[in-house]
Parts: sequence; C-alpha cells; structure tokens
Amino acid sequence: MSFQSLGLSDALLKAISKKGYTTPSPIQQKAIPPVLEGHDVLASAQTGTGKTAGFTLPLLHILSENPKEKYRPIRALILTPTRELAAQVYANVREYSEFLNLRSAVIFGGVNQKPQAATIRQGVDVLVATPGRLLDLQSQGLLSLKRVEIFVLDEADRMLDMGFLRDIEKVIKSMPEKRQNLMFSATFSKDIKKLAHGILNHPVQVEATPENTTVEAISQKVYRVAKGSKTGLITKLISDGNWKQVLVFTRTKHGANKLCEKLDKAGITAAAIHGNKSQGARTKALSGFKSGRVRVLVATDIAARGLDIPLLPHVINFELPNVSEDYVHRIGRTGRAGAKGEAISLVSADETTFLRDIEKLIDIKLPVEIVEGFEPDPNASTAPIKQGQGRQNRAPRKSNSKSSGGNSGNSSRSSSRNSGGRSNKSRRPNRSSDKRS
Ligand code: AMP
Repeated sequence: MSFQSLGLSDALLKAISKKGYTTPSPIQQKAIPPVLEGHDVLASAQTGTGKTAGFTLPLLHILSENPKEKYRPIRALILTPTRELAAQVYANVREYSEFLNLRSAVIFGGVNQKPQAATIRQGVDVLVATPGRLLDLQSQGLLSLKRVEIFVLDEADRMLDMGFLRDIEKVIKSMPEKRQNLMFSATFSKDIKKLAHGILNHPVQVEATPENTTVEAISQKVYRVAKGSKTGLITKLISDGNWKQVLVFTRTKHGANKLCEKLDKAGITAAAIHGNKSQGARTKALSGFKSGRVRVLVATDIAARGLDIPLLPHVINFELPNVSEDYVHRIGRTGRAGAKGEAISLVSADETTFLRDIEKLIDIKLPVEIVEGFEPDPNASTAPIKQGQGRQNRAPRKSNSKSSGGNSGNSSRSSSRNSGGRSNKSRRPNRSSDKRS
C-alpha cells in the first residue's frame, strides 16, 4: 500500500516523501481512511507505531480541503498528556503541513504563557496542547475552543494515569458537540472504555502493535542482584559492554536523579528525564542523548512515553515496574525497526513478585544471570515493594489547577489498567498485577 492510495493531497504526499516515508505503517493504513471519511476513530496504538502521522495526516487533509476563515479559529485540537509528547506532535504537524496553508501552535506549562497566547491571538488552525495550560489560557479568555471541528485525544491511558480526567471533561464541554473525535490509547482498561464511550460517536476501531514489540523478538535477560549492588552492576555492564546509548528506567524521580549522579561520577555521562525537570532540562537531556553526547538517559515511565528516539540498542530496567504492562512498553524501546535490541532487568529480592507477574504477562520465563561480585543477598526479604512506597505519588489534579499538564514523572496508577484486552499476542488477558493492590 502507498500513501497515494490513501487519498492524501499532493501537498501532504510531498511532505511525507520529504520525511523519507515510503509505506504507511499498519496503524496509518488502518486509521487514515476512516478519519478521511469523517468517522470517529478509536485506535489502539502506542509510540513507535507511527500513530502521530496516523491522525495528523488526515486531520491536515480535512482542514486544508475546507475553506479557511480569515481570523483562523482553532479548528483542530490535539490533547497530549506530557510536554514532550506535545512538542513532538507539534513538530510532526509542522513538518506535515509545510506545503499547506495552515497554521499550528503548541502550548504547555512550565514556560511563559505570553508567547503562546500571542501566537494563538494571531490565529491558529491546529493547536497541540497539554490540558493544564490549555484550561489556564481558556479560563483567562485567551483562547476559544468553540470552533473545534476535530478533537484528538492522544495517549488517553496516560491522561487518565496522570489524573487528567476532569480536565478532559472540561475541555470537551467547551467544544461544539458536533465534531470529529479521534482517540488513541496503548491500553484499554475499563476507565478508558468508559471515556471512549463518553467522547466518541460510533467509532471505527483500529489497532496496531509496534513492529518490534512482540516481546519474543527482543533479547531479554534478568540479573539477580542485591539492591545495594545495582549501581555497581549497571556501571560495570555499561562500561564492560562499552554501550553508547542506553535507556534506563527507574521507578522514581528521586531514583533517576541519584543514579544519574552516580553514573556521572563513574565517568558515564548520564541525564535524567522526569516530571520535576524543567522543560529546558528535558529538551537538553533528550538532544544530548540523541546526539550521543549523553550515553545514558535515565527516565521514569511516564516521562519516557512519547519520547521520539528511533533506535535503542539497550534498555535497562534498574527497577522493575510494578505495573507489568509497563515492562512491555519499556522493552519496546529497543530493537526498533527490525534492529536487534537487548533488554536487561536488574532484579532484587523484593521485586520477585513483579518479575513473576511480568513473566506471566509475556508468557516467557526470563533467563537469569548472576555476575560475580554482584550476587543477590540471600537474606533479603522477597516481600514486594508496596505500591506507592518510595514513589512520589501525586494527589489527583484539581481541575482548576494552575500547573501545566504533563509535569508528572510518576503517578499513582489504577490497577484496572490491566483489565483491557489488546491484540499483541505477547500480551495476555487476565493478567495478575492486580494482585498487589
Ligand atoms: P510515532 O509512533 O508517531 O511516535 O512514530 C514513531 C516514529 O516513526 C517517528 O520517528 C516517525 O517519524 C516514524 N514514522 C511514522 N510514520 C512512518 C512511516 N510511514 N514510515 C517510516 N517511519 C515512520
């Protein structure tokens, strides 16, 4: 299948070929036609599937087909959970609309609102936003959503994880009832289905899994290790392997910072990316990592979502996630586009239950190794770390909060996340991580 056959305009085809894409990805093949036909769409897709182009291309096509108005009211709103994702989606919108007469803008918190308000005042066809800043500007009368024709809710599951439900409801109330709705989510819990039911009108359902994340295709390994020896072991693995680009996951923001400091001290350049970091610091960390100046990027789960990093040879779980599905998301960061990748997990005694749950979910018994000098502690308790322990859980957002969207690196999660069924064969239904709640 070609992009031409999807019925996209010449101006979009030109932008697509400039990006170097030759074939639409599965989610693009499935989502673009129904969106172009004006249907609401519910899509199961995560980062790495090409989902952004999946909604952006037809959205731009529709807007450019219909007559523009002189003062350019916001006609399409794309809501994303994090600042990073907003910035990335916006970058995509900019690239794909290069040959169209459409204006776009992005707004998120953590930066001065004045330039954002000024851009909007000049007229914007497509607005990419995080919920907090959007509602802030709206409540100050600096933007109106009364003319929105197309609404995109990206990474809806993360939106709920981060406590944005109220904000989403508020945003929806301020848009016209008659509009086209597109909702993207990697997981389909009961809450997500409920949200979809409330927003979407007879949606066409499409799904795609990232090419690489059939977990069987990724080389996975567990190192059993004493909790206190993890930093030493990770330093050894990175140094001995001479690994140049490593994404490391920690469960907490504090843990991410601490690990970064220690790696830096050991002569391994590292940067952390999480919700407590300023926008500037996050952008700098990411660009340093992409350019190779920074060898190790340490991230929390939510901060890592939406990061546009094309290919990662190594992903390390410094700690296992306590939501098993996050393991699949994390290791899906490696081996993209058919390249070989390795996912390593450092597992201490108190993570034994998490490990069992993950193995049950992916239906694979992970090979275990022990490195001499970094042996597990035989006397350590295998009692699981309780949810919330050691985590900086945030209180649910107040809907009128002044803070911006997307500033959380961690959030408390509902265990009901695991109740939804997905098509990826490596993700089994009836998973067991609910046990701990
Ligand atoms: P996304 O899932 O939207 O975050 O996209 C993941 C990556 O795939 C991004 O780097 C895109 O630029 C890239 N991409 C999107 N669509 C295509 C395509 N049809 N062919 C090749 N790469 C693509």
